Amino acid sequence: MTDRIQEFLAERRRAGRDNGPCLVVDLDVIRENYRGFARALPDTRVFYAVKANPAPEVLSLLASLGSCFDTASVPEIEQTLAAGATPDRISFGNTIKKERDVARAYELGIRLFAVDCVEEVEKIARVAPGSKVFCRILCDGSGAEWPLSRKFGCAPEMATGVLEHAHRLGLQAYGVSFHVGSQQTDPRKWDGALKSAADIFRDLAERGITLQMVNLGGGFPTKYLKNVPAVKQYGNAIFRALSKHFGNRLPETIIEPGRGMVGNAGMIEAEVVLISKKSEAEGELRWVYLDIGKFNGLAETIDEMIRYPIRTEADGAPTTPCVIAGPSCDSVDVLYEKKPYELPISLEIGTKVLIEGTGAYTTTYSAVGFNGFPPLETFII
Ligand SMILES: *Cc1c(COP(=O)(O)O)cnc(C)c1O
Repeated sequence: MTDRIQEFLAERRRAGRDNGPCLVVDLDVIRENYRGFARALPDTRVFYAVKANPAPEVLSLLASLGSCFDTASVPEIEQTLAAGATPDRISFGNTIKKERDVARAYELGIRLFAVDCVEEVEKIARVAPGSKVFCRILCDGSGAEWPLSRKFGCAPEMATGVLEHAHRLGLQAYGVSFHVGSQQTDPRKWDGALKSAADIFRDLAERGITLQMVNLGGGFPTKYLKNVPAVKQYGNAIFRALSKHFGNRLPETIIEPGRGMVGNAGMIEAEVVLISKKSEAEGELRWVYLDIGKFNGLAETIDEMIRYPIRTEADGAPTTPCVIAGPSCDSVDVLYEKKPYELPISLEIGTKVLIEGTGAYTTTYSAVGFNGFPPLETFII
């Protein structure tokens, strides 16, 4: 945790304003993360995945540092423009777009679109003529703690036809994209996708179409409980894979980090609402209910996929296994049960806990008013 976040939370407590869970995001950490990506992948442009944390201060900071932006909707495009990015630094990276939203994006100056099928290419050719399109390919998400489904992308063998169709309709067949799965802990996972991308480049070159760009997607991890490789290791592994598959004709590249850009910049302070036991048969197992759960910020605990570090003032003291649950009246609002979480025995009702690594995918996954609980309050410092 950064000193700035600690001081902010202490001040909030002193002022008696600590009456609900909140997220505090330290912009200095995001600035460092941006520089880390730029150093690790010096010839690659960064398109920050806005959905990870679209706070205006985060977008303005990244815009001022020279970042580009990966957006998924017209409101995200508008937020990014309002933060100072010019349209040539914004991609409409969602493969599922209403035609009227493509038209609106085009009106706003956006000329770079993701596709994964000929139907989407046709929408873009109709209302965003001459734009650049890149085709997303399916990618095996193994090694990722938050793997992606088959929802986005087509088989690599289909991508050639999709891009050729785009070319035929007057669009610029620009490149290939993929996403190796979020919180990808294995830097070697880019290799297989880059091989597929190089095959597509070759197939299209044989048909007289020159692709230029490979979008390496997101997936760069943030540290939760387990250590993860440094961003430099990802940069090295990606550079090796690019050289192996593209030889000395390296394509232009972009990355779309979300979690890796903002995850470790955020910290949630929450409060223990109740500690109880369910039955004598469960022995020492306690149930610890927090004032934050799946519906007001911690949605990524679904299937216990993301395991956040939880800090308490009694860290280091003897612990006991706990099931951790949220405050709502929905039975799925249990954060960790399959694998109980060790928390200090001395933990009491009313104690504050700190949940680390919560700068990404927390505020944006927070329900508006489920059960009367407000969306996660955020402070950007
Ligand atoms: C969400 C998303 C990202 C960001 O992924 P992370 O794993 O958070 O880095 C990047 N690209 C696209 C197209 C996305 O939808």
